[in-house]
Amino acid sequence: MKHILLIATGGTIACAKTQDGLAPALSPGQLLGRVPDARSFCQVDAVQPLNLDSTNINPSHWLLLAKLIEENYSRYDGFVLCHGTDTLAYSAAALSYLIQNTGKPIVLTGAQKPIDQEDTDARQNLLDSLRYACHQDSGVCIVFGSRVIAGTRAKKTRTKSYNAFSSINFPDIAEVRDRRVVRFIPWEHQGPPQFTHSLNTRVMVLKLTPGLPPEAFASAGALCDGLIIESYGVGGIPDAYLSQLDALARAGKTVVLATQVPQEGSDLSVYQVGQRVKERYRLLEPYDMTLESTVTKLMWVLGQTQDGEEIRRLFYTPVNYDLLF
Ligand code: ASP
Repeated sequence: MKHILLIATGGTIACAKTQDGLAPALSPGQLLGRVPDARSFCQVDAVQPLNLDSTNINPSHWLLLAKLIEENYSRYDGFVLCHGTDTLAYSAAALSYLIQNTGKPIVLTGAQKPIDQEDTDARQNLLDSLRYACHQDSGVCIVFGSRVIAGTRAKKTRTKSYNAFSSINFPDIAEVRDRRVVRFIPWEHQGPPQFTHSLNTRVMVLKLTPGLPPEAFASAGALCDGLIIESYGVGGIPDAYLSQLDALARAGKTVVLATQVPQEGSDLSVYQVGQRVKERYRLLEPYDMTLESTVTKLMWVLGQTQDGEEIRRLFYTPVNYDLLF
């Protein structure tokens, strides 16, 4: 029988009603108690390093979770993390960079309704996740609403429905259909797992809106080493901000020019407003990567190196299906 480590971190799945609204309350033992069927196909140990609404998750928690998995890696066949859905896509992307080449499934799941609510999706999601963690060679992924999404490709696109997550610019990697895993994308991993232990959290996103004051660039630049500018369409910089890019380049900031359109990604080569800045400032572009992956990958890259060429190489090296371009 497969041996799984359940890592409970809070989220709606573990919430109970309080006077002030839902708050994480249930222990991992209580979560497991709600899915007794799991005992027929796996043996589960459980820990609860955090008990948070995932609104409160930050990069220090990603490092803590990666370390916990590293310390337990040899003792288990797979890992299931129960996590709030609000920042789950960021955590899945961050863990994809911090733990690479894992052949052991590291599954993140959660729910839109607490596990004790009658119409909950939590029991199904938890059972599906345990099942997937037992049966598949896999990297970091999300199991939610019967779908299995690569950890770098998920985005929360619905706040209330049970199909809360979409796989952006990439197909689902598998499905859990009537207790069976149907895999669509073969898992390729080379070599032993690689764990990294540092992130540079001085990464920020600046979303352009028409008329945004130019000073926003200097303010954001002062707070970060890596700035992701969320531009429009396939990507470009308005004329009014060109001198701001000069200043960021002089200050040695790593600048990524992304798009705020969720589907199909950037292509700075198409329009003059994109081409002129990409070449002149050697901007990075995420192509088909999600914003969640772009943010966490940049944190990971800048945590490994400060060398401009190495930053480019690592940023453009695909990890866990994050980048096809
Ligand atoms: N606010 C909750 C959280 O992210 C939402 C959820 O889990 O669905 O922790």
